[in-house]
Amino acid sequence: ERPRILDDEEGGVLFYSASPSSSSGFGYASIEKQRQRLPVYKYRTAILYLVETHATTIIVGETGSGKTTQIPQYLKEAGWADGGRVIACTQPRRLAVQTVASRVAEEMDVKLGEEVGYTIRFEDNTNSSLTRIKFLTDGVLLREMMNDPLLSKYSVIMVDEAHERSLSTDILLGLLKKIQRRRPELRLIIASATIEAKSMASFFQPRRRRGLEGDEHGSSTEPAILSVEGRGYNVQIFYVEEAVPDYLRAAVTTVLSIHEQDSMGDILVFLTGQDDIDAAVQLLTEEAQNSKKCSSDALQTSKATIKGALDFYMPFQEKSVCSLRLAEHRLIVLPLYSGLSRADQDLVFLPTPRGKRKVVISTNIAETSLTLEGIVYVVDSGFSKQRFYNPITDIENLVVAPISKASARQRAGRAGRVRPGRCYSCTYILNVLHMLQLPVSLIGGRNRLYTEEYYVNDMSAEGIPEIQRSNLVSCVIQLKALGIDNILGFDWPASPSPEAMIRALEILYSLGVLDDDAKLTSPAGFQVAEIPLITVDSSDGHSMYDVSCHARCDNTDPMISKMILASNQLGCSEEIITIAAILSIQSIWDSVGGSQKKLDEAKMRFAAAEGDHVTFLNVYKGFLQSNKSSKWCHKNFVNYHAMKKVVEIREQLRRVAQQLGIVLKSCESDMQVVRKAVTTGFFAYACHLEAYSHNGMYKTLRSSQEVYIHPSSVLFRKIMKGEC
Ligand code: ADP
Ligand code: MG
Repeated sequence: ERPRILDDEEGGVLFYSASPSSSSGFGYASIEKQRQRLPVYKYRTAILYLVETHATTIIVGETGSGKTTQIPQYLKEAGWADGGRVIACTQPRRLAVQTVASRVAEEMDVKLGEEVGYTIRFEDNTNSSLTRIKFLTDGVLLREMMNDPLLSKYSVIMVDEAHERSLSTDILLGLLKKIQRRRPELRLIIASATIEAKSMASFFQPRRRRGLEGDEHGSSTEPAILSVEGRGYNVQIFYVEEAVPDYLRAAVTTVLSIHEQDSMGDILVFLTGQDDIDAAVQLLTEEAQNSKKCSSDALQTSKATIKGALDFYMPFQEKSVCSLRLAEHRLIVLPLYSGLSRADQDLVFLPTPRGKRKVVISTNIAETSLTLEGIVYVVDSGFSKQRFYNPITDIENLVVAPISKASARQRAGRAGRVRPGRCYSCTYILNVLHMLQLPVSLIGGRNRLYTEEYYVNDMSAEGIPEIQRSNLVSCVIQLKALGIDNILGFDWPASPSPEAMIRALEILYSLGVLDDDAKLTSPAGFQVAEIPLITVDSSDGHSMYDVSCHARCDNTDPMISKMILASNQLGCSEEIITIAAILSIQSIWDSVGGSQKKLDEAKMRFAAAEGDHVTFLNVYKGFLQSNKSSKWCHKNFVNYHAMKKVVEIREQLRRVAQQLGIVLKSCESDMQVVRKAVTTGFFAYACHLEAYSHNGMYKTLRSSQEVYIHPSSVLFRKIMKGEC
């Protein structure tokens, strides 16, 4: 465990206990009272009426107004889950699915996994006879359609966070529209924080048929729109006066200056991903520990840093830095991203103990999907990790890119929703913006911080739907598996580019998944579609470049499936399933608490000349030999929780493989066949080292695109030393 809470009084490190009892105590109102105070409560009758009388209801309401946690409960109370029917609520993010489900179970005072359950990829926490309210990722609901194309067990499907326009959300909306024609009794709720409700409504508008207004169920096929008025408080916005060179450090110093200058209240910091967030947590922890020592030296440095930070911000300029109060008001620094263990995730929801200040450093997951109580200050880096796909070069990058104005406003709004009964004297958002120059190579970089002018003049108003900036391989295979053959003519909420579509068809054809008529091949195509790797869950700042040479991302999943199928003939299915399981999680390495150098050294202990895939096998072997010990993991900079997950996923993949008739067999130490299987799946990413390149430049075979080995790969160092 890493220290997170700084407690100088006791002279030691204090831990939050991850007890599930959560928000009771600390003077919080009873759950029922809390529920009634939420803005949606006033609209309960209206919502139920609209759902009763309309096939589609679009509900717009600001984050925290109670859409996700309350509406499914209202529906259940009104009888929509009677007679064995189920109410579904989808989320683009896995982490959000888990946390809202457990919150709703708590509010209903039921055991999670029974009446209220959730399903995410590789984790089904529902009970087929008991579950009435089911939270799930939109990707999982898409998969369910493969077995139940009309989703017949659901009476109401609430597509939540629709404003995010994740790839799976868009595919889902297109398919639900089709299902509605066959199931007029199905109710859809599209919920979102900020949405151009009108354009969503026009998507669901039925094509006019001679004055036909309703269906045989007496309900309107016209979508209804309901706007839930929130009760946000004013948020004062501050920009940096001048661009700053490093948003991470700027964010850290901003937190320290808020802590130094402003009244109590928790701080929410938006950074981009696990790497950033872990670094910031470490910096903050060190900074606070320095001040704890109270040696005049440390105090001087901290003062200097803070003074430096204050110069960036207009609101602080008149104030003088008097004394450092870090020691008095202790900081509780907590990271929030989807790679965390459940216990770590739960920490952020615990009420802040009196006299302490909580700092949550998050990916954009806290932008709209999750609501944290007590946030008074928001520090916004102005960035998030976003997928960008270039169909010409066929390269998909997860890059740190500027957020849209809509996102910036959302982030700011997180500071302005304070529960009644708690009072804050001031509310700040400090906008630490910087502009990104899209990386020339695969490696993203940080540049300058940006200013108010940047916000006004350069930031785009809305984000681009993910479907228009993604590789569509998984999307195509999913639609094909659902029997939708005319993909170009599919009714999308936002059309993907034809180039990306053609690229996807081409890859799937070359993998032998599609035949000459672009239909799924039998059995290979159907088998690939069957392996549950192809769910396209939206990312929230994953660190994706874990595999050598090319980015791993959800869209390579048909390639992973193909690799598993190939391992059957090659006699190495046990090894390949291990590799597939490891490729299905973000990272098995643990960079926290150690330097990059130490992590690299640890990696070298497992490094195989063949590259990262074989290295993964070595780590997995070591983990098993250690008896799955957390100590062993800690010593070797391997993430224990990730490895436990790998074991779990591996078990599920083995079961699926067996169902598909794959013989489970180990090739012992014959790595040649393992490499063959990997290549059978990933041949499209083949590239060759440029003969005269001194900096390890490769070119892809397909498009002659320049690529480099990612620094996280075990092959990176070798390349740098010219060994490869
Ligand atoms: P919305 O979906 O409109 O953004 P939610 O239904 O997620 O709103 O949240 C409604 C309220 O429920 C929040 O304002 C917060 O007070 C409370 N809440 C939600 N999740 C949790 C949780 N895990 N722990 C404590 N309170 C929560
Ligand atoms: Mg919500």
